[in-house]
Amino acid sequence: MQMIINGKRTDSSDGKTMNVYNPATNQVIDTVPVATKEDVDYAVDCAVAGQKIWGSVPLYKRGPIVEKYVELVKAHKEELARMESEEVGKTIPEAANEINNVIAFFTGFLEKAKHEYEESYPVGMEPNTEERMQIVIREPVGVIACIIPYNFPVSLFTHKVAPALVAGNSVVVKPASDCPRTLIRLCELLVEAGFPDGTVNIVTGKGSEVGAWLVGNGKLGSVSLTGSTAVGAKIAALAGQNITPVTLELGGNDPFIVCDDADVDMAVHEAVLGRLVNAGQICVASKRFIIHNSVKEEFISKLVEKVSAYVIGDPSDPKTQMGCLINEEAAKKVDRQVKRCVDQGARLLYGGERNGAFYTPTVLVDVTKEMDIMRDEEVFGPVFPIIGFDTVEEAIEIANNTMYGLSSGVCSRDIGKAIKIARRIEAGTVVINGGGRLRSREMPFGGRKKSGIGAEGVSCTLREVTAPKNIILKNILK
Ligand code: NAD
Repeated sequence: MQMIINGKRTDSSDGKTMNVYNPATNQVIDTVPVATKEDVDYAVDCAVAGQKIWGSVPLYKRGPIVEKYVELVKAHKEELARMESEEVGKTIPEAANEINNVIAFFTGFLEKAKHEYEESYPVGMEPNTEERMQIVIREPVGVIACIIPYNFPVSLFTHKVAPALVAGNSVVVKPASDCPRTLIRLCELLVEAGFPDGTVNIVTGKGSEVGAWLVGNGKLGSVSLTGSTAVGAKIAALAGQNITPVTLELGGNDPFIVCDDADVDMAVHEAVLGRLVNAGQICVASKRFIIHNSVKEEFISKLVEKVSAYVIGDPSDPKTQMGCLINEEAAKKVDRQVKRCVDQGARLLYGGERNGAFYTPTVLVDVTKEMDIMRDEEVFGPVFPIIGFDTVEEAIEIANNTMYGLSSGVCSRDIGKAIKIARRIEAGTVVINGGGRLRSREMPFGGRKKSGIGAEGVSCTLREVTAPKNIILKNILK
């Protein structure tokens, strides 16, 4: 496939390409260009020009273009879901769910934009101000660099691109190098829907080069990254050189607390649901299982029973419940993390087997709070490290003993107790009687501590992609 720059399919200026693989078979499925710095700078220049046109199109004229895009995505839903499954290794229903998000977010942000009323502020708070009126309008920030990770490429693309475009910005998208094809196709459909030339651009290549050139370009209005904390720190430093604002949705090591009075069957169901979707490659997967000692053995035996019955295999087979990881290197990394945890004293109770990019669900017991896996080590795979606790204080201490603060879960039949725990957990989201893997489309989703800056969701992103401008009408009421 080719990049899209200025509304046209484009190769890189030096003709270089890179392979895209199907991680389940390790077969090459396509090639995409490796953009040069000149290509990236050109894409930003086109986006600057495109934004000037698109930003002056009134919302009532933007609406039909957005609606046409939604119809095109509906018409290509199966093709897009198959494409995503093939390059990411997730099952077709998981991929189809992401395509549904594109439809829902473009529709949702368009509707929300119609109700973003402008504000008028009171005057007369200071002497001699009665003769004026002051209003605040919001304007698009300009060109938004949208940098996307591999794990939910389509959902995270739409979280960024839908509000950016609806609000009158232009975008330069940088997909993850493992899975650029579905996002290129989604950008082709944006062009087909009628977004003006330059409004939608997508550049491909390595993050450390193409991504860094993009973030370092001084003509951006903002950068929106979803990715790891390490890359977030690099991007924040680079963007800071040009005072470019950043929204960062980063990593997590989310706690899942099961109290002594919890419904253990429900807790096990939620644990599995939160950890095995997308083979555990989810920022908000429950990643640390903090279980009251009185129910720990019951939780562990029911968990092992459930995960051992899980159907793992070819992502395109409808019977498959869990596909593979994004590539063999990612599976090897998970394996190394599991082995290190065992070296630190944990016991491997179930799983721990790798086959290419596939990794079995894995249960680790006898985990202690000093181990890396219970603190700052994010494991992006289907691994359940389990630690016991006796008091609520102890559970909260373990839960907060991490640099991350993305999401979390608390299970208890006593809702008052669960809410008290929720208020003390240092995270952007706490799910009561469920795992933290719950990101509704509307809510302001974001992380605390090193899990990010800013929030995304239909309720709030339009404000992140626009900037206020005060217009003061002076000397008019004399
Ligand atoms: P990553 O940080 O390696 O890459 C993310 C994107 O950044 C990719 O497009 C990559 O090419 C690009 N990139 C890499 N280095 C760059 C640089 N120096 N400058 C500019 N761009 C650069 O993340 P990943 O491995 O693709 O995804 C997994 C990570 O993302 C996990 O840590 C996960 O928790 C996190 N994540 C967070 C959320 C959230 O909403 N908080 C959601 C999904 C994933």
